[in-house]
Amino acid sequence: MDIAAFIRHVPDYPKPGILFYDITPLLASPEAFGEVIGRMADAARPLRPTRVVAAEARGFLFAAPLAQRLGVGLAPVRKPGKLPCAAFEVSYDLEYGSNTLCLHKDALAPADRVLIVDDVLATGGTVDAMIRLVGRSGATVAGCCMLMELDALGGRTVLGDIPLSVLLHV
Ligand code: AMP
Repeated sequence: MDIAAFIRHVPDYPKPGILFYDITPLLASPEAFGEVIGRMADAARPLRPTRVVAAEARGFLFAAPLAQRLGVGLAPVRKPGKLPCAAFEVSYDLEYGSNTLCLHKDALAPADRVLIVDDVLATGGTVDAMIRLVGRSGATVAGCCMLMELDALGGRTVLGDIPLSVLLHV
């Protein structure tokens, strides 16, 4: 199945000069979405993850069915003020300003092997923040699984030796 056919290209969104990759056609197709989750699960199984970690909002869409398919728990990463219990916080720079992401302090154990999941790997800022949150928990990042990688932005350099699986390169 041609997964790329289910990604809509939206020029100049959310601002001029940005080409936005819209996953809503993929989500609208149970066949294509099921194919994506199946391919992600096949790529992730050899990494033997014990937890999936993903950030709101679009990361959750892939992480929840993937964690179920792998038979492991999901730990959500959220913006400040959204998690009810004590949380680690890490911040990262954006082109203008900064973002903060949070993870419950008891979400992971030091023995956990974590699979980080997201829809798009762009500059790598988001995945870098998730790697730092996992590190604060004392757990290990076993690998990352992304639907798409924007190759020209070079975001994968933040991963170092961490295995990365990508279904679509643009
Ligand atoms: P980054 O932190 O730069 O790697 O950006 C990754 C996050 O931003 C992902 O969670 C994506 O949901 C979103 N994102 C960045 N660039 C795009 C794009 N061109 N189209 C769609 N989503 C994007």
